[in-house]
Parts: sequence; structure tokens; C-alpha cells
Amino acid sequence: MRKPTVEWQVCGACNYACSYCIQSPRHRVGFPSPATVDGLLAFLASLPGRWEVKMSGGEPFAYAGFLARVVPGLVDLTPHTVSVLTNLSSPPAALDRFAELTRGRLGIVSASLHLESVTAAAFVEKALRLRERIGPEASLVVNAVLVPGRLEELLAARETVVEAGLRFFPQVMKVNGGVHDYSPADRALLARFLGPGDDPRRENRAPSYRGRRCWAGVDYLVLTQAGDAYGCRTAKRFGEGFLGNALAGGVRLLDGPAPCPYEICPCTVPANRGMIEGVGAARPAGEAA
Ligand code: SF4
Ligand code: SF4
Repeated sequence: MRKPTVEWQVCGACNYACSYCIQSPRHRVGFPSPATVDGLLAFLASLPGRWEVKMSGGEPFAYAGFLARVVPGLVDLTPHTVSVLTNLSSPPAALDRFAELTRGRLGIVSASLHLESVTAAAFVEKALRLRERIGPEASLVVNAVLVPGRLEELLAARETVVEAGLRFFPQVMKVNGGVHDYSPADRALLARFLGPGDDPRRENRAPSYRGRRCWAGVDYLVLTQAGDAYGCRTAKRFGEGFLGNALAGGVRLLDGPAPCPYEICPCTVPANRGMIEGVGAARPAGEAA
């Protein structure tokens, strides 16, 4: 069953600078003004029915208005489920506040582990603390990019995560609209992370769904920090799928599905929300950073 979803890039800025970040430093900038946030909240409130609003960045917690304006606004002004993709770098008090604000309304916390900036042990400590505080309706999943040359280190990190009772969601590394060409040594280790490749709930292999009917732009959209709406991430990358601006002129959703024209579907959110014909399931397990 399709679960209508908006991916909202709350801000562009991030407090990390991961060497493998898919967003270039040039684009990894910017915070919205209070007026922009209010306008986007009004747009989200106008969506028919109950959607999942998955907030990302950059790093959403890096925006000072995130806990002060964005999250309370979503909870108070809309009926939607609140999800977030975060690197979990915020102080524990900020994460506690997030759990408190979203209690009863939280969907998924996708916590991205970046070993260039944090140890697995320190990350897991924070993740466990947050999981204790979120409501029983919510889940927390640890995502990690399968960084070339660092897979041994990631295997150890995965053990730390799994031993703590947390879910680990591996993601192949994407580059320039495709998947990184791993070395033979890395490919041998990849097999220890990845399954047969047919389950977007357990891993992100950035597959191609070309030709399958997809409801991107109908029940799923990507919203930038400036209010531009696109059918999906790949469409946006190609400068296609523009649905309008939520602050200027409005967003027009599509009437029905269309065959996917792209060679890569980089993020598991559409697949795990039932947007793609014959793919995914009702309960998403985790998403890409
Ligand atoms: S990968 Fe995520 S945490 Fe790292 S720099 Fe990019 S947006 Fe920030
Ligand atoms: S299958 Fe993926 S890449 Fe293709 S249109 Fe749908 S969301 Fe976009």
C-alpha cells in the first residue's frame, strides 16, 4: 500500500564534511528564513490526508529553527507523521527535546553513522538514549554508507550497532548519478553487508526501476529548502519532474503514475513507501543519508 510521503530538505547546511557526501560542498549550504519555514508548513498542512514528512538536510538539527519552529510546527499545524534523517551529532539534550516534541507522531529516525566524525561506540550510546525516549510507535535505524577502503572498519562498527540491539542499514556509495565502482578487495567485503539485492528494506543498492510504474509526483515528492517540489531525487538531478514552488505559484501533484525513465533510484524511500510497482513493503526499514 502506498504511504504518501514528502522528503523535506529543511536546510542545506551540515556540520559535517564527509569526504563521500553525495551533496557537493557548494550545494551543502543554507538555512531557511522563518517566513520560508512558515510558508512550507502551510503548504504541508494543505496536503490532503495524512502524509509522512521525512526531514533531511544537510543536517536538519544544524538549523537553529529546527526544534524551535519546524518540528513544533509540523506537530501542531499538520496531521502528518514526522520522520527525520540525522547524523545524530546534536547534544543529547536536543535529541531528548526532539523525542519529547514528536511523541505519538514520530515515524522513523534514520540515524546516519559517519566514522570520519564519530566512533561507533559514541554513536551507539546516543542512538540508544534516543531510542529509549521516542514513542513505541516510532523506530530508529542506523544507516551507513559503504565507504570504499573502509569496509573492515564498517564491519566492526556494524557489530557494535547490532550487538546494542539496533538495526543496521547498509547503503552502497553513489557517485555522479551512479554507484561507486568498488575495487575487487572491497567487492569481496561488500558481500558481507549486502543480501541478494531484491529487498530495499534491508539495504540500499541504488537499483534501476526503469519501466516500472511509479507514483513519484503523485503520492511522493521532494521539497527543497526553498520550496521547489520535484517528483523524486533522480528527476531533480536531471532538472526534470518539477511540480512547482510551494511558496510561489503552488505545487501541482500529478494525476497518476508513469513508467520510471531513470537508470538509478538512489534512495529507498519511494521503494519502501510502496511508490514503485512490484517493489518494497509497507514498513520501511531505513533510508539513505
Ligand atoms: S553525508 Fe550527511 S552528514 Fe556527511 S556531510 Fe553529507 S549531509 Fe552531512
Ligand atoms: S522509480 Fe525511483 S527514480 Fe524512478 S521515478 Fe520512481 S522514485 Fe524516481
